[in-house]
Amino acid sequence: MGQHQGLAIERRLLLAIALSGLILVGELVAGFVANSLALLSDAGHVFTDLVALSLCWFGIRQATRPATPRMTFGYHRVGILVALFNAALILLIAVVILYEAYQRLRQPEAVEGVLMFSMAALGLAANLVVVLWLRGQAQRSLNVRSALLHAGGDALASGGVIVGGLLIFFTNWFWLDPLVSVIIALIIAAAAWGIAREAVNIMVEASPRHLNMDELVQTITSLPGVNNVHDLHVWSLTPQLHALSCHIQVNDSLLSQSASVLEQLTSMLREHYRICHTTVQLECPGCESQDLYCQLPPEPSQKPEGTR
Ligand SMILES: [Zn+2]
Ligand SMILES: [Zn+2]
Repeated sequence: MGQHQGLAIERRLLLAIALSGLILVGELVAGFVANSLALLSDAGHVFTDLVALSLCWFGIRQATRPATPRMTFGYHRVGILVALFNAALILLIAVVILYEAYQRLRQPEAVEGVLMFSMAALGLAANLVVVLWLRGQAQRSLNVRSALLHAGGDALASGGVIVGGLLIFFTNWFWLDPLVSVIIALIIAAAAWGIAREAVNIMVEASPRHLNMDELVQTITSLPGVNNVHDLHVWSLTPQLHALSCHIQVNDSLLSQSASVLEQLTSMLREHYRICHTTVQLECPGCESQDLYCQLPPEPSQKPEGTR
């Protein structure tokens, strides 16, 4: 990504974050004034949107921050830590909404329908502006694309509050307010679950979900010059940044010949599997362990013969 383009995305994201923050405050205030749980729930949903946009912005910023001797991977994973924390927070918000909705379904409270749908309409309009702002960037950045997907869910939630507010205005069916809240709480919980699952997968060094490992192994071993692959590790630093390390066995040959095998392997991994950080150990027949996936001991062996 060019620096100019990165700056353009950053600026648009910051604007979107500021706008979402305004809507969040507006919906919180209007929600309390109108006594509308649905509007407060929508504020909760705008909060998840704010989190997604902020993480996206954070991720793009991290890409410009260099690695250091202490942080050799750079700071990419910090975003995952933040995502996990936020997912827990969002799940908690969903639980609180569900509990409050349960109370209100048993004992409906009077709600200000007009304020409810006008604030939600404002939120929907702001959401639309954010989508239009970021749409141009979505083709270039996976991060932005996922934030946009999230904004789509937001429109659904705001739409629910608008319809609920209108119906309450005409009919005084106050139970609609907690009902809409339950739907929004479920949307929020689903979003949080998705974020948490992805973050945990990355934390435990799971291989990226878009990878079929059997197929990957087959593709590597089918490269001319590669006899076998073992001690294979594939992991992700962030949802978009993947790394791989492995041993490959090649025939005993000149280093310059092996280098072309290596070149083929790394470019294949980059182009077909979006794995951009590759570490390969070239071996001729005779490596001790041939396990495809290595067995790491719980702690390093103390025996001198255990060291190579
Ligand atoms: Zn290993
Ligand atoms: Zn080996």
